[in-house]
Amino acid sequence: MSKTSFDVVVIGAGPGGYIAAIRAAQLGFNVACVDEWKNETGAPAPGGTCTNVGCIPSKALLQSSEHFEHAGHAFAAHGISLSNLGIDVARMLARKDSVVKQNNDGILYLFKKNKVTFFHGRASFTQAVEGGYEIAVKGAANEVLQATHVIVATGSNARALPGAAFDEERILSNDGALRIAEVPKRLGVVGSGVIGLEMGSVWRRLGADVTVLEALPAFLGAVDDGVAKEALKVFTRQGLKIQLGVNITAVKTPGKRGVTVSYTDAKGAEQQLEVDRLIVSIGRVPNTTGLDAAAVGLALDERGVIVVDAECKTNLPNVWAVGDVVRGPMLAHKAEEEGVAVAERIAGQHGHVNFNTIPWVIYTSPEIAWVGQTEQQLKAEGRAYKAGQFPFLANGRARALGDTTGFVKFLADAKTDEILGVHIIGPMASELIAEAVVAMEFRASSEDIARICHAHPSLSEATKEAALAVDKRTLNF
Ligand SMILES: Cc1cc2nc3c(=O)[nH]c(=O)nc-3n(C[C@H](O)[C@H](O)[C@H](O)COP(=O)(O)OP(=O)(O)OC[C@H]3O[C@@H](n4cnc5c(N)ncnc54)[C@H](O)[C@@H]3O)c2cc1C
Repeated sequence: MSKTSFDVVVIGAGPGGYIAAIRAAQLGFNVACVDEWKNETGAPAPGGTCTNVGCIPSKALLQSSEHFEHAGHAFAAHGISLSNLGIDVARMLARKDSVVKQNNDGILYLFKKNKVTFFHGRASFTQAVEGGYEIAVKGAANEVLQATHVIVATGSNARALPGAAFDEERILSNDGALRIAEVPKRLGVVGSGVIGLEMGSVWRRLGADVTVLEALPAFLGAVDDGVAKEALKVFTRQGLKIQLGVNITAVKTPGKRGVTVSYTDAKGAEQQLEVDRLIVSIGRVPNTTGLDAAAVGLALDERGVIVVDAECKTNLPNVWAVGDVVRGPMLAHKAEEEGVAVAERIAGQHGHVNFNTIPWVIYTSPEIAWVGQTEQQLKAEGRAYKAGQFPFLANGRARALGDTTGFVKFLADAKTDEILGVHIIGPMASELIAEAVVAMEFRASSEDIARICHAHPSLSEATKEAALAVDKRTLNF
């Protein structure tokens, strides 16, 4: 058993951990990163949930299924005819796996390039020692590491429904949902959040009859009301059967096939849903399994979240935590920003994460993206605001694309015109939102956006028009 000392040991190589490790190494520290994820061959698969069973594979399947849907429904209008359109699910999944592998390999390459020492295995705190902490790694090689600083980035796991553990065959977490071997005839999705809607969309596009059961009475409660209303209308038109306000009472897997979900609907009537597979996407729980936080007295709250302050400092000196395992939105880019900020703080710099300008994206079709406050939040705060909205229906590029669903909506302070929130539902919303994030980071006004030259024809002209609409000055509608 060897023992190696590092300035910084990062536990977890998801987007929080691997980015923190690389940034710390770039700042001149001697850095190790430990991660236990392995692929089906047992090889290291750094990248965490995001790369292996989250952001990246879900976007790969969303892309494949969108191509399939376009080929079946949109190509004809372009004069393109196809016969024998089919979907080879095995090939689609293999492509997704190769996209994941490229990302795993990319991270290993970056570790090498930046001189981050990578250990493949599970890391646990063993004890505090003079000037730092001792960490045991159990995996391919057994190691004991000594660290002056520790950054915990151990991520999160899918939350199961009580009494319905994931078997990844019939009751699926995000992991199983990303590797269903054939298109299910009937698919149930519990939870209409980001993951449920993205996964439901993938399999609906490929031909599944998808029912989404949501406990909350409102659809996409965290999203701007206007956008959520439009989204419900569009997704319903696409064929997703969305039921709100349901209370699931039992989930059973009788016999060899299928899942039976018993629930009461919004009116209190008892219902049963029979599906071939059930995706459960009701949130995620922080992951500290195997970390042995108790060995060093690392404080967790009652939900298992590692307690940190605004700077990601834990209750222990020189132990930091970032990403899904701490408070705040469970988003890869939030984890990355925290990772960079912590590495810079360790170096005595002033790393900073602005929680008000973290963008959110749902990669359905149409995409939904937003930054800042919603209209309902501003109303609840009693803040005086102005709103401007512009539909993609009136945007030349959207018409040329053949995708005119949705709109861009601006919310700005009534007096100062500072942008308070931007909400987009429509094509490429995930890309369009970046302009709003930059604008808000620089505390721009809606007039600033309205006065910037935007390329024509482009979807971003809808952003400009929405900014103009704040002062009722649209040029194009
Ligand atoms: C289906 C799905 C789609 C998503 N899509 C998006 C999206 O489009 N955009 C977005 O921003 N977010 C998305 N997310 C959320 C995103 O994946 C997470 O917010 C992000 O991965 C969190 O990063 P992290 O570094 O905190 O943790 P993780 O990515 O979970 O990484 C934690 C790593 O730590 C390792 N680990 C844990 N404990 C130990 C230990 N004791 N020793 C060694 N290693 C350990 C794990 O193996 C893992 O590799 C999605 C999530 C899911 C499930």
